Amino acid sequence: SIVVTGATGALGRLVVEELLRRVPPAEVAAVVRDGAKAADLAKRGVEIRIADYDSPESLAGAFRRGDRVLLISGSEVGRRIPQHTAVIAAAKAAGVSLLAYTGILGGPEADFELAAEHKATEQAILDSGLPHTFLRNGWYHENYTGRLAGVLEHGAVVGSAGEGRVASAARADYAAAAAAVLTGEGHENKAYELSGDTAWSLAEYAAEVAAQSGREVAYAELPADAHLSALTGAGVPEGFAALLVDVDAAISRGRLAHTGGDLSRLIGRPTTPISAAISAALAG
Ligand code: NDP
Repeated sequence: SIVVTGATGALGRLVVEELLRRVPPAEVAAVVRDGAKAADLAKRGVEIRIADYDSPESLAGAFRRGDRVLLISGSEVGRRIPQHTAVIAAAKAAGVSLLAYTGILGGPEADFELAAEHKATEQAILDSGLPHTFLRNGWYHENYTGRLAGVLEHGAVVGSAGEGRVASAARADYAAAAAAVLTGEGHENKAYELSGDTAWSLAEYAAEVAAQSGREVAYAELPADAHLSALTGAGVPEGFAALLVDVDAAISRGRLAHTGGDLSRLIGRPTTPISAAISAALAG
């Protein structure tokens, strides 16, 4: 089977949809921690396997010999090394034929805090000796367009990334790349640096939001400590806010600006422009 973990998450659902366009549902299995959330997938003929990254016992039934597996990184920052290690051990014990992993742009070179668990996971996969593919995802457009309501309300895109550029792509682009790897050949033991075809600055992003919405929106560059208080003031938990400020510092150093084209090559089309994600978010 082709197996997707985190299949009821935002990225996982898109990957499953891409797979169902390419292979019969009986060849697809979804690993989820809450079977009720996957009832629609079960109805469409996708095999549901219940497992929790926190429970090695439950993971023992998640994979079969020969499966091609996509491990979608977990969403609990700080807990992901033991969680991912448990998934890798279960995949190894089952004898899967491919383990693909959604890491972070730059892989071992990514020098910001959010990258640490991804780097450790890649190393654990290498140590396992399993055939693998590293899908090193850059930023999602949705990290920005998901906050558009607040931007319009305040007339400001707030950040501390300076003139750094972000080569983001739509979540759906990354999902299509994962499906291409899971259903294609020749991706064993490769690492793909996945990112958008075009990189933009936060000032350019603000200008595009202004142009499309007809509202006054500008980029407000803040010192790191003021950015941190702005985020916590908006309800972002302190620890995660600090990670986001650290990401902006990484952006200012150009760490998320890579436009090497791996993503558009894998999906066989240009990546979705940020302008299209903005117009979709404004319409939605
Ligand atoms: P989501 O939060 O929508 O999905 C995370 C998935 O992981 C969900 O399906 C969730 O299950 C599952 N999951 C979390 N914890 C466990 C657990 N203990 N056991 C089993 N499953 C678990 O995030 P996205 O789909 O948007 O993104 C996928 C991953 O990519 C994120 O988890 C994060 O690591 C990373 N990410 C990358 C970004 C980028 O810009 N590159 C931005 C944001 C995240 P459930 O459906 O039950 O909640």
